[in-house]
Amino acid sequence: MSEAYNVIIIGSGPAGYTAAIYAARANLKPLLFEGLAKGGQPGGQLMLTTDVENYPGFPEGILGPELMELFRKQAARFGTELIRQDVSAVDFSKKPFKVVADDKEYWAKTVIISTGASANWLDIPSEKALQGYGVSACATCDGFFFKGKEVMVVGGGDSAVEEATFLTKFAAKVTVVHRRDALRASKIMQERAFSNKKIDFIWNSTVTDIKDPAQKKVTGVVLKNLVNGQISEKKCDGIFMAIGHTPNTEIFKGKIDLDAKGYVKVHDGSLTNVPGVFACGDVQDFKYRQAVTAAGSGCMAALDAEKYLEGSHSQLANL
Ligand code: NAP
Repeated sequence: MSEAYNVIIIGSGPAGYTAAIYAARANLKPLLFEGLAKGGQPGGQLMLTTDVENYPGFPEGILGPELMELFRKQAARFGTELIRQDVSAVDFSKKPFKVVADDKEYWAKTVIISTGASANWLDIPSEKALQGYGVSACATCDGFFFKGKEVMVVGGGDSAVEEATFLTKFAAKVTVVHRRDALRASKIMQERAFSNKKIDFIWNSTVTDIKDPAQKKVTGVVLKNLVNGQISEKKCDGIFMAIGHTPNTEIFKGKIDLDAKGYVKVHDGSLTNVPGVFACGDVQDFKYRQAVTAAGSGCMAALDAEKYLEGSHSQLANL
């Protein structure tokens, strides 16, 4: 068995890199698996956005991929070992913990899970082509760019209604497109949206196409009415998907406590039900889902891991 790392961090969004910066500066020599899931690039969901204007410290804003490259450089500067591979399996049943990537086994005294969550998308080709150019899954991040414009929100849950309401601060008009004739959002949020004059609803409909990838901007959508099959077109300047998120926890199923939706359950900061395994960022947070909150929780996980290592020093000395 090769020597166990003090900390192995799985996932390279703001949470993972921040955990790495703190762990590295605490001399823990962390290993971070950056993952290849997002089209071969590390960095998490910010790799899919353009301008980020709400990350503190960048008064002029910064491009999402640039911000993540800075996080990455900062983690590397203090000696984090970075591996661009997806972790394929973990074993938390005994110590040291086992982490497998590219058929190779790694050992760790502590593991920090920061694999994030992925926004659900409609999976239509034009959607991918226009991500970052008017197609977004985060109103908090991108709403500001639609001042005085017309936007659509797809979905009928709390996120859709919350995002639609938030977007009315900027947009001239917000249209919620829902595939059924009733929202699943909580009643109070529904009432708020129904009484907001800037919000319209299109029921029983799905978006089948987004125009216009050739212009590299959103100019409208093609809608299909699911009751009568009618196809129609509607102009808009942006479209926000709010059809749920999926936490990236496939490899942790049965290894650690997850909630009914698959998010890692944490308590007292970043602690999971397995002592020595910590979680941070969107993989354990469906509520805030912001780069800055993810980064903050990454810091917490690194401090918790450091504390755990100090406390377990005597038991771990023989590993
Ligand atoms: P959600 O409750 O799962 O709602 C997803 C919505 O998207 C549903 O209305 C669903 O339609 C629709 N949808 C799913 N797949 C679709 C597809 N392929 N095409 C078109 N529509 C599709 O997700 P969420 O709104 O993100 O909320 C997730 C959790 O976070 C919930 O527990 C929610 O209460 C919570 N949350 C709370 C707050 C708050 O309290 N402030 C804010 C946001 C989220 P159907 O209705 O037909 O299934």
